[in-house]
Amino acid sequence: MNNYTEAMMTWKLILGSENVLNSPEVLKSAETATFQTAQKIPLIIRPGNREEVQSSLKIANDFGTPVYPLSTGKNWGLGSRVPVKDAVIMDLSRMNGILDYNEELAYVTIEPGVSCRQLYHFLREKKSRLMVSLTGSTPDASVIGNVMERGHSKGQYADRYANVCGFEVVLPTGECLNSGFERFDGAKAGKVNRWGVGPVLEGLFSQSNLGVVTKLTLWLQPFPEVLQTVFFSVSDEAKLPELIDTLRDLRLSGAIRSSVSLLNDYRVQSELGQYPWERMNNKSPLSPEILRTMKAINTGMETWDGVWNGETALYSLSAAHADADEAHLRKVLGPKVDKIIFHRQNLSSMADLLEQATDPESGNIDRQKVTYTECRMLGFMGIPLAGSVPITYWKKRTPTPASDLNPDRDGCGIIWCSPTVPFNGKDIEAASEIISRTMREFGFEPNLCLNGVTDRSIDITAAILFDRDIDGEDRKAIQCYNKMLGRLCTEGYIPYRLTIHSMDALLEEKGDHTAVLRKIKRVLDPVNILAPGRYE
Ligand SMILES: Cc1cc2nc3c(=O)[nH]c(=O)nc-3n(C[C@H](O)[C@H](O)[C@H](O)COP(=O)(O)OP(=O)(O)OC[C@H]3O[C@@H](n4cnc5c(N)ncnc54)[C@H](O)[C@@H]3O)c2cc1C
Repeated sequence: MNNYTEAMMTWKLILGSENVLNSPEVLKSAETATFQTAQKIPLIIRPGNREEVQSSLKIANDFGTPVYPLSTGKNWGLGSRVPVKDAVIMDLSRMNGILDYNEELAYVTIEPGVSCRQLYHFLREKKSRLMVSLTGSTPDASVIGNVMERGHSKGQYADRYANVCGFEVVLPTGECLNSGFERFDGAKAGKVNRWGVGPVLEGLFSQSNLGVVTKLTLWLQPFPEVLQTVFFSVSDEAKLPELIDTLRDLRLSGAIRSSVSLLNDYRVQSELGQYPWERMNNKSPLSPEILRTMKAINTGMETWDGVWNGETALYSLSAAHADADEAHLRKVLGPKVDKIIFHRQNLSSMADLLEQATDPESGNIDRQKVTYTECRMLGFMGIPLAGSVPITYWKKRTPTPASDLNPDRDGCGIIWCSPTVPFNGKDIEAASEIISRTMREFGFEPNLCLNGVTDRSIDITAAILFDRDIDGEDRKAIQCYNKMLGRLCTEGYIPYRLTIHSMDALLEEKGDHTAVLRKIKRVLDPVNILAPGRYE
């Protein structure tokens, strides 16, 4: 009997056989990501509460079996459910309780399995004036998994990690820690204050392998009196640097308090449809001529036929305030763009629109009933659609399914390369040039989005999109990613987040960062059972 077999028997005793999965089909599916991986998953365990997480980790220590925690496992483009090194998956999706909700102070306390869609329906049922900030991924992805990766979403609370507090963390040994004021029984400010008193330990648990987060408090943005979504575009690449500088100044001055995104024309087209294999005579990458014709007939949005296409939102206190906000943006941003349009929205009419488009039985959304503009507007209101997941089918030769999109299952190839760049035109231009040049060298379209979620930096998300069912594509995509990452790091544009295959691909560091982290790891995880290799 090997360690896994013995550990499995003990896990079955405490979790029940139905929560310890080892059928070959289930394991094979969990070992499948959106790019090539070789890691093995011997088992999946599904604890149902914090105590079971604690006991499960103690068993992992006893038998020396590595465990990799997931909230909902939709880390698509970065590794999906696949661990960095061979490990048992600890699937936390059964723990999907919304444990606390406070309308006045605008927060919810949630467990790892709570998805954005679940939270949206919860708030609607409560007739809440609060909204959940959504990512471009599926609304069925968890909030906590996204927090643990320090992901970003839309709106004023787009910087996920900046809007959470009060972590409950199970350490690899099975001990349990509460962060901030939550460490005191009866503390009144545990869910409304980030720092507490004394050292702030929370930072240790995101992008790391030092603990399993079993609950936290998420702050929510109240819905404004008037919400305006602003769409704009430029048709000339040369206009991008000045546009970026203007957007930074608008953010720093507080005129824009929401996330600002800029999608290039390739990204927009990949959201609207699939690669025109026939018109391209089965060749790749897309030629500028075909891209031009696609833009002319397939923009989906009048404003978004530019080389760069932007969106942001204005949250205003009254109609008069909204008029002033709009006038200011028209004056400052207007001259820097070729097209700009403002949409004023009303929460209940948009929610009705979603209801009309949703099949009550399956919960699937008929995208034919919602325009692309409406899709993007709904995102700023915390109303969940399928996000940008259709882009993962861009290079597939089979049609994108009408519902239940699942890039892992359907052989969709996507790898995200995500450098963080100062919020200025010069650096954005330099980093985008490296990405575009490298993508083209490998025969991929440069598919880019610039995500301004904070005032002083932009996270670029470059998507390498390919068809995993075509021989050689997996290898080419990984080579492209590695080359791009190397070139970006050399120029000082370090990624804010890593794929599971590139955890050790960063530049050599100065100082003792890694040595200190190793010391902490040795103390918190002496047997090295929690997510070995993750961000090490
Ligand atoms: C088209 C597309 C668009 C996307 N758009 C965005 C976007 O806008 N913003 C964005 O951030 N991402 C985006 N993503 C990436 C990804 O899909 C999301 O970040 C998604 O939320 C992650 O899935 P999850 O919540 O199921 O996390 P999981 O897969 O459950 O977790 C992610 C990682 O965090 C760790 N982890 C998870 N839970 C815990 C826990 N409880 N304790 C300790 N560690 C834990 C694990 O190591 C895990 O691998 C996009 C992906 C695609 C394909």
